[in-house]
Amino acid sequence: MHRGRPTFGASVERPICVTCGVQREEIADVCAICADERQYVGWGGQSWTTLTEMRAAGYHNRIEEIDPDLWGIGTEPRFAIAQRTLLVKTDHGNLLWDPMSYLDEETVAHVRKLGGVQAISASHPHFYGILVEWSHTFDDAPIHLPSVDRGWVQRTDGEYRFYDDEVIPLPGLTLIRCGGHFEGSAIVHWALGAGGRGALLSGDTIQVVMDRRAVSFMRSYPNLIPLDPATIRDIEERLAAYDYDRIYGGWWGRNISEGAAEAVAASADRYIRYAGGEG
Ligand SMILES: [Zn+2]
Ligand SMILES: [Zn+2]
Repeated sequence: MHRGRPTFGASVERPICVTCGVQREEIADVCAICADERQYVGWGGQSWTTLTEMRAAGYHNRIEEIDPDLWGIGTEPRFAIAQRTLLVKTDHGNLLWDPMSYLDEETVAHVRKLGGVQAISASHPHFYGILVEWSHTFDDAPIHLPSVDRGWVQRTDGEYRFYDDEVIPLPGLTLIRCGGHFEGSAIVHWALGAGGRGALLSGDTIQVVMDRRAVSFMRSYPNLIPLDPATIRDIEERLAAYDYDRIYGGWWGRNISEGAAEAVAASADRYIRYAGGEG
């Protein structure tokens, strides 16, 4: 992995930030995502890598069925923020959510067997990973992102489709911009998830916490910057029209398997109670 400003020789490969895993157009002194108060620059200084380097270093992806029609894809050994990507299968195509930073021929072959990728989105900029590489690999699948976070896009050569508050990338799936962690922080509502009771794919927008009975909402998770109560009520409001019983968070196993809507309501109430000095 490179420190500072490496030369990539004749390669036009795009650099990937080692700390957040987001790929950008070209090398920079510092990754814009990591320089923001919600993230951090690696303690040893800004560091970049490339897919070629990662392949040479022996990274690979673990691909596993989590539930019917839902697959997880996670990079091993752990890389950057280490989110576990989700692939939702529908009768109308597959959505790739929160695409992490590593892709190789084995992964592409496996995902093709699952039906490929027809739409791509991410919960927020920390999880943009190499979404453009995924899109180019799978027939330029459209990348749906909220327009308010357009300024966080680090690679311009993607098939972006910017949306305002909601969009249906594939029938049965709705991307809902909730705000909070980022202005465009979003979730997926999957109507047929959890055996038809409905499920959310939530990333950091609504983070499933370690006891897996509750969630939290933060401006920054690594730097522990909270949100204000009004914003948390806004997030709840955005979800009010949707039924769901399960939440799939951003990492392997970080899920609430049932009673998720009640868990979100109770977690929001608890958060606001403590934030308001009534804890
Ligand atoms: Zn970064
Ligand atoms: Zn985040």
